[in-house]
Amino acid sequence: MTTGELPVDHMRHLLERSTDLVVRYLSEIEERPVLCQAEPGELLDLLPEEAPEHGEPLDRILSDVEQLILPRLTHWNHPGFMAYFGITGSAPGIAGELLAAATNVNAMLWRTSPAATELEVRVCDWLRRLVGLPDGFEGHINDTASIATLLALAAARHRSDGSIGQRGMAGRAELPAFTVYASDQAHVSVDKAALVLGLGLDNLRRVASDEAFRLSVQALEVAIESDLEAGRRPLAVVATAGTTSTTSVDPLAAVADVCRRHSLWLHVDAAYAGNAAICPEHRPRFAGWEAADSIVVNPHKWLFTPLDCSVLLLRDRQRFTDAFSLVPDYLRSDEESVNLMDLGIQLGRRFRALKLWMVMRTYGAEGLRARLREHCRLARRIASRLEEDERFDLLMEPPFSTVCFRLRAGRGEDEEQLNQRLVEAVNAAGEQFVSATRLDGRYVVRLTFGNLRTSEEHVEAVWRRLDGLATELAGRRMGR
Ligand code: PLP
Repeated sequence: MTTGELPVDHMRHLLERSTDLVVRYLSEIEERPVLCQAEPGELLDLLPEEAPEHGEPLDRILSDVEQLILPRLTHWNHPGFMAYFGITGSAPGIAGELLAAATNVNAMLWRTSPAATELEVRVCDWLRRLVGLPDGFEGHINDTASIATLLALAAARHRSDGSIGQRGMAGRAELPAFTVYASDQAHVSVDKAALVLGLGLDNLRRVASDEAFRLSVQALEVAIESDLEAGRRPLAVVATAGTTSTTSVDPLAAVADVCRRHSLWLHVDAAYAGNAAICPEHRPRFAGWEAADSIVVNPHKWLFTPLDCSVLLLRDRQRFTDAFSLVPDYLRSDEESVNLMDLGIQLGRRFRALKLWMVMRTYGAEGLRARLREHCRLARRIASRLEEDERFDLLMEPPFSTVCFRLRAGRGEDEEQLNQRLVEAVNAAGEQFVSATRLDGRYVVRLTFGNLRTSEEHVEAVWRRLDGLATELAGRRMGR
């Protein structure tokens, strides 16, 4: 029985074989069906119930990755992945993950890994500059936008009533109900934050959106006024720049104005579309976000950085430190630097900045812009096909790289069932994976482009599939 780490040769073999597997997996990804067709419990039945008592040979383990695991994944790296928001674990990002795992540092304090803290500060600032936000915003990296939104609302609550951190909210009749506002299109992470923070789902006002699925400022004003009259305390507005269903952008400048007048915290959820602000032509849509207190942008969504990497930009970082900093003796340190543990709940922090840095350096700002523009071009291309074909109903010009449409139903035909059948048939074929949403109560099909492997050829392929299925489903309707 040996103890300690694997010998160097063994380690090299392990990493080289794993790298070979990664390169083969990614370069041959199109040979696999994009959406996994496995049955629930299938892998569980194949895995032993007990952990191995004795170490196993590397080749057997890697062979199990190939035989057992890879066939039971949905392949987010597949160029036909057009569901939810398409993402890419790009090569520089994968290398960054490997190096972060190898260094295995914990960036909780500056002193526990100075370079990890300072690189995080720097890459967040690179992103801030690229998306055109002014000096003064300071960023740090969380795992997800959901956590960023939770933290922003916790900081907003702390700013509104500094006693809650110490005394809590329960049993305090003198506290008003705190209210938060977001459009009916905002992501469910806002509801989760209200739930976790004890604000309560009933105190999250889902404000109506307009015909282009953007928050209605008038409805926002009415909701705030009515809460004030009822003695409730409006806390924050979560505006969305790139909604999950249609990627619509709320009127940020007008929302910021409302927040300023009522002294509300403005959090901008730009998890997906905020990345597009690196392209100057998209910038006008974001006008006004510079007045936000906090903005979240996910490089893991549309900046080719592997999951997870979510940048939170803060206009006044001290407000976060005020809300979250608790330093026990065993974590005390005297250096003049930010300690990332003071900006949230978690103590342990992965070295996520490394992969983002590698992605930004490898592609350069110019290369990143070109890739985002290509995704938007692909979206416009399929959108124009759909628009020209009267069997389809294109909901709106795609604001970025996401296209929403539906197949028109024949007379007496159930539109929802028809479109569900369309989505199921596309997904069952294995070449593309598309998803759906509901807008104004109606079922809508979504296609998104965010994968570096997706090209015009894949757009043509999905169009051929939709075209063929539309004909086939219409044929069934006619009883042919
Ligand atoms: N906000 C928006 C607008 C989203 O579309 C999503 C996910 O798609 C999220 C937040 C949640 O992101 P995360 O998975 O990083 O929590």
